[in-house]
Amino acid sequence: MHLRSGTGLPFSKLLIATGAQPRRIPLPGSDLAGVMTFRTFNDSRRLKEELSGGGRNVVMIGSGWIGMELAAAASSYGNAVTLLGLEDVPLGVAIGPELGGFFRSLHEKHGVQFRLPASAAEITGVGARRAPLSRTPARSSLPTSW
Ligand SMILES: Cc1cc2nc3c(=O)[nH]c(=O)nc-3n(C[C@H](O)[C@H](O)[C@H](O)COP(=O)(O)OP(=O)(O)OC[C@H]3O[C@@H](n4cnc5c(N)ncnc54)[C@H](O)[C@@H]3O)c2cc1C
Repeated sequence: MHLRSGTGLPFSKLLIATGAQPRRIPLPGSDLAGVMTFRTFNDSRRLKEELSGGGRNVVMIGSGWIGMELAAAASSYGNAVTLLGLEDVPLGVAIGPELGGFFRSLHEKHGVQFRLPASAAEITGVGARRAPLSRTPARSSLPTSW
């Protein structure tokens, strides 16, 4: 194997553990400026800057660990948070329905609203900048302010 610097590294076995990138959801509107993925420390800083003032409508797509943790953070800053996921119970795939239900109740006590199961179908925005509406296939619309 060769590094970009030109250095050669001989090997008899090579383990590739280069991690993953967030998968952008393949929906119309997913490239609008108000739509973000979350992975890096910089993503975390940007989100904190956007959300720490509170008073926004935030829609999270994904009811696994990362979505649930972000929902808790966004809600604790005083934002209205709605969380969508394909499962019946958040975190159900990871920890089962009983514990997932416990975390759902905990989030609901802190004001997080759930739409489960729900599949986002389209994200619409104004002037290709913001994403004020996310639509589910049942055509219900969720306003966001970002
Ligand atoms: C926001 C967030 C929160 C998380 N919280 C938790 C948690 O609380 N508990 C938990 O268990 N898991 C958590 N995870 C998941 C966990 O981070 C991942 O499962 C884990 O990091 C995957 O490890 P990895 O080694 O496969 O990949 P990574 O940690 O992504 O490491 C990949 C490495 O490969 C390097 N690399 C990539 N391309 C090249 C290249 N061409 N040349 C050289 N090096 C390269 C990168 O620099 C990096 O160092 C979280 C993930 C995210 C995004």
